[in-house]
Amino acid sequence: MQEIATKVNSRTFQLVQPLDIEEVNVERNLKEGWVVVQPVMASVCHADTRYFSGQRRKEALAKKLPMALLHEGIGIVKKSLSNKFKVGERVAVVPNIPGYVLNGTKKTSNLPDNYDKNGVFLSSGYDGIAQSDLVQPEQCLVRIPEAVPDEIAVMTEVSTVGYHAASHVQGTLMKPNVRVALFGDGPVGYMAAAVIRYIYGIDASRFTVFGAIKDRLDKFTFARREMVQNYDFEHSDEEYDVIFEATGGHFSSNAINEGIKIISRGGEFVLMGVSEELVPIDTRNVLEKGLTLYGTSRSATEDFKAVVKALGEDEKYREALAKLLPENETFIQSASDLQEAFKKIIEEKKWNKAVLKFEWN
Ligand SMILES: [Zn+2]
Repeated sequence: MQEIATKVNSRTFQLVQPLDIEEVNVERNLKEGWVVVQPVMASVCHADTRYFSGQRRKEALAKKLPMALLHEGIGIVKKSLSNKFKVGERVAVVPNIPGYVLNGTKKTSNLPDNYDKNGVFLSSGYDGIAQSDLVQPEQCLVRIPEAVPDEIAVMTEVSTVGYHAASHVQGTLMKPNVRVALFGDGPVGYMAAAVIRYIYGIDASRFTVFGAIKDRLDKFTFARREMVQNYDFEHSDEEYDVIFEATGGHFSSNAINEGIKIISRGGEFVLMGVSEELVPIDTRNVLEKGLTLYGTSRSATEDFKAVVKALGEDEKYREALAKLLPENETFIQSASDLQEAFKKIIEEKKWNKAVLKFEWN
């Protein structure tokens, strides 16, 4: 069989060093089964701002730069060598490209694709969405239903991280009287909480969110809310079958240990929060209560399909995600626009997601 390969020029906004984004033209290979997507909108991840501001170890920066940032986004199919996608279709970008897709071979592992060590991840050492012509394999694109506006669809990726986290305990979450708690009042916690409420249907009578900042916690109107500073974990007679930890950083340890106090015997703990340091946890009670701890990271195409479907079907779910939208729109026409946008995001440190709208040509 003859390999059809076409060259595609992509205006790529690369972070060359912290605080410095420059446009370069990158010639990309469009192979059979791959698709050119023109990004329309992207939201900004904490991981992107950490690269931009140089809050990563020197070695990590040296290894990964220059690269285009952004991995949460949607676009329009511009050119297609896939019979699954047509020009003009609206798609969500799956940033995780597994090794077997890159190499054009078959999947051999039973593990979900997001744990593939040979895969690449957009905006993590591989050019991300900040470019005019993103070349993606057909396996890493998911069509967006008409009922889902761009502003909501752009939040699919972050939602899938919560969806994938929940998939580890799917069987338990489907039990009729399961009680669930989640620690973390940031956007990742919010999207995971929305999955638990709207995809698994667990309402405030069985679902508590623990947070530390009142303004943020108040946004979780669909769950019972408790401030960690005021809650008596030591003497609580409430118990939860499943606990999600979505705090990360220095707070991981507190959240996990408080969670261990209120989790039921034989309970399941899902660890979502990323931390640069080791996290001390109360293993005595992990043992004594017979707990199961799950690690979870990122998401794969299957998760995108499920989230996009739920967003298309449930208006309440879409309304919940709309609360994360920023007040102002940010348009990106050039590398310097993107650089300025990132500077502003770092200064403002808002709870809402930063959303960027691309205007090419
Ligand atoms: Zn992200």
